[in-house]
Amino acid sequence: MAKKGRVFSGARPTGRQHLGNYLGAIKNYVALQEDYECVYCIVDIHALTTVETTADLKQNTYEMALDWLAAGIRPEESILFVQSHVPQVMELHTLLSMVTQLGKLTDLPTFKEKVRQQPDNINYGLVGYPVLMTADIVLYKTDVVPVGIDQAPHIEFAREIVRSFNYRFNTKVLIEPQAKHTEVLKVLGIDGKEKMGKSLNNHIEIAAAPEETQQRVMQMVTDPARVKRTDPGNPDVCNVYTMHKLFSSPDEIEMVNRDCRTAALGCVDCKKLYAKNLNKHLEPFRAKRAELASKTGYVEEVLNDGAKRACAIAEKTMEEVREAIQLP
Ligand code: SF4
Repeated sequence: MAKKGRVFSGARPTGRQHLGNYLGAIKNYVALQEDYECVYCIVDIHALTTVETTADLKQNTYEMALDWLAAGIRPEESILFVQSHVPQVMELHTLLSMVTQLGKLTDLPTFKEKVRQQPDNINYGLVGYPVLMTADIVLYKTDVVPVGIDQAPHIEFAREIVRSFNYRFNTKVLIEPQAKHTEVLKVLGIDGKEKMGKSLNNHIEIAAAPEETQQRVMQMVTDPARVKRTDPGNPDVCNVYTMHKLFSSPDEIEMVNRDCRTAALGCVDCKKLYAKNLNKHLEPFRAKRAELASKTGYVEEVLNDGAKRACAIAEKTMEEVREAIQLP
């Protein structure tokens, strides 16, 4: 079947993925393969703007790629690669920076937020982050970028840079990418308050052993008003119930919703049921991950092959870009 166009998406190498990554991004990446030619990039250069050490960068890249592959990214169709393996992106970043106004970059809320977060490391890369992101997208002649509603301004900014470039050099070589709005599920951590994330240690790794998964689930914060076992609970304010809705059967969801309210169901049993269903759901993924991990050099081969295919597209774009600028 003819594909609808090319999708690009990138994510920083954060190592073993957690449920938030799985539900918020990976599942969507896998689904997009049905209709689009997909280019998925592990953006290690972007990570350098904020990481304190690069000691884990290689391992984190490997673990993340392994999780994506085990979850269903098909490397024979989709291109999966590491950003720094395609050096043309750095060249395009430099060229795009010539048509991007500095004031606009320093005015962006995302830059201001980073300045607040790391006042002692306001590096040049942070300012140029959206330009490098634009280079990532347009280098592969991307038609569509899947984004949550809060990321839509980033794509609009990328489109502005493309328009500036095409206008400045009187060309049409760069394509304005379209945002494909996807509902990005916000998954709360086991604290039941903050978004799931490694930095808060409130996460559940999808590749964890079933026992470890159960342990983490048992630590989940529930309805705070339910103090004693005999207190009725309110599933509407409980993150465990939210997760049941994603991983349990319709009958089980109905039972939790009903029996929690009358205290017929206790939180311990409720969490055990969720842990069991979550482990069952992740079983095929974990088996596939173990199989792929046992093939020595498999992930590296996939990433090398992805880089080769990505480089071929990138070099063609750069030839057109250099010619449009009339570089000598
Ligand atoms: Fe939450 Fe389940 Fe406890 Fe109700 S019984 S408060 S849904 S953990």
